[in-house]
Amino acid sequence: MYLNRPILLTIYLKRSIERKINFQYYLCKVMSKNTDELFKNVVSHTKEYGFVFQSSEIYDGLSAVYDYGQLGSELKNNLKTYWWKSMVQLNENIVGIDSAIFMHPKVWKASGHVDGFADPMIDNKDSKKRYRADNLLEDKIVRYIKDGKIEKADKLQTDMEAALSADNLPRLKELIEEHEIVCPVSGTRNWTEVRQFNLMFSTQMGAMAEGSDEVYLRPETAQGIFVNFLNVQKSGRMRIPFGIAQIGKAFRNEVIARQFIMRMREFEQMEMQFFVKPGTEMEWYNHWKDARLKWHLALGTPAEKYRYHDHTKLAHYANAAVDIEFEFPFGFKEVEGIHSRTDFDLSQHENFSGKKLQYFDTAENKNYVPYVIETSIGLDRLFLLTLCNAYEEQDLSNDEKQDSRTVLHLHPCLAPVKAAIFPLTKKDGLPEKAREIMDLLKLDFNLQYDEKDSIGKRYRRQDAIGTPVCITVDHQTLEDNTVTIRHRDSMEQERVHADQLEKIISDLVSWKNLLR
Ligand code: ATP
Repeated sequence: MYLNRPILLTIYLKRSIERKINFQYYLCKVMSKNTDELFKNVVSHTKEYGFVFQSSEIYDGLSAVYDYGQLGSELKNNLKTYWWKSMVQLNENIVGIDSAIFMHPKVWKASGHVDGFADPMIDNKDSKKRYRADNLLEDKIVRYIKDGKIEKADKLQTDMEAALSADNLPRLKELIEEHEIVCPVSGTRNWTEVRQFNLMFSTQMGAMAEGSDEVYLRPETAQGIFVNFLNVQKSGRMRIPFGIAQIGKAFRNEVIARQFIMRMREFEQMEMQFFVKPGTEMEWYNHWKDARLKWHLALGTPAEKYRYHDHTKLAHYANAAVDIEFEFPFGFKEVEGIHSRTDFDLSQHENFSGKKLQYFDTAENKNYVPYVIETSIGLDRLFLLTLCNAYEEQDLSNDEKQDSRTVLHLHPCLAPVKAAIFPLTKKDGLPEKAREIMDLLKLDFNLQYDEKDSIGKRYRRQDAIGTPVCITVDHQTLEDNTVTIRHRDSMEQERVHADQLEKIISDLVSWKNLLR
């Protein structure tokens, strides 16, 4: 029987809701043509305008590693500032640190990463390509849905989830064989066994190959906070509840890295561990769950683009966990995790180091190991979210002419360039006057000067990188020191006195607009 795609999806949606299956994921994969196009355009835009480049591109790139260009690094710094100010500057009881990427190897034994931080992987013996076993099965489910084989999709989903939650690797292999999954490269079914693949990168510390110690590149920044818990608490005379925040690089040897900067092997995290009295953790968990979503929404993103995803299957150390997910062009995906981690990490470090990591509560007159609420957000995913959300291809055609522009509606606080300054022409002293105005403003704001091409083209270039205002210096400026300001989103223009520019721009880009 032939069923068209919407009918198939409706049937699958109904079943998915009944069985609590993540329908959204499959829906996006099946319906993804237009959004694929949009995402491709966003990705090429980031490269064209200097936001993100493939790492080592002249050598054909390094898989899942990216560099941030001249505008990307500005935007990234602004995102970090937004997070740091809201966490550290606005909370008297949160302080920030910057711990080293290398840590004692025992840290990762204690945290459980050496034994448990792994994904199930399988190799095809003919193509020598490596895959995540669960990704192969998910792709097969999508195939079944596209072909109208809903029963089969449903059954495979259930079997896969059962095998994953029981850590049953032979069963994953059986499923790959039963469903006759072939390697996309070789086309064969010549598979190895499914094995756990540890995601940590290791290297040698010390000059001598022999006798040097194996150390890891940290897979998360959180452990740098836990091992410094007492240092910070004592030196900062911190009283519970208090938090320690940190922004830094993390490294994971992801088996399959997909979707641009969504899943990278080197990425950046912004994490905060909030230490609380045991028994009060759920109160603080709810506080941070709420506060973190508000932080995202303050950027002006429509609320329906975000959702919570409460974890039903909790990690062994957690007693509550939720993801904040954002609707990317390829579906809802995790951007930030909020976890109630109990006293697991500090207790583990006590056991492995033999040092006490306890807090003396003067009100209670006793020592205890604090409980921890963690907020952990990926900076690169936040960066991608911000761009996807800001990107718009606008049709500006009217009866007289065809016109269009690509515009990034970035919040002015986040925009890499705050204002652009244009002399109307390259002569009559206008460039000199424009530079004079720029010199007065450039210490406070990141500006661009542009005198090439028509004003219209210059506006388009600034729209494409999200510059909130453009300032044009013309002949009248030489007479009365007034300029034209053109606003990015409305494209409206106004005439103002050059002396007002500093106030106008600073009002526009003030962090008070976001953090008040
Ligand atoms: P996922 O389930 O997507 O692999 P995770 O649950 O392993 O993510 P956490 O360990 O909770 O992620 O890390 C916190 C945050 O770090 C994530 O919400 C995400 O934003 C970011 N993150 C994790 N892995 C990567 C990666 N490989 N590339 C980019 N960002 C990442």
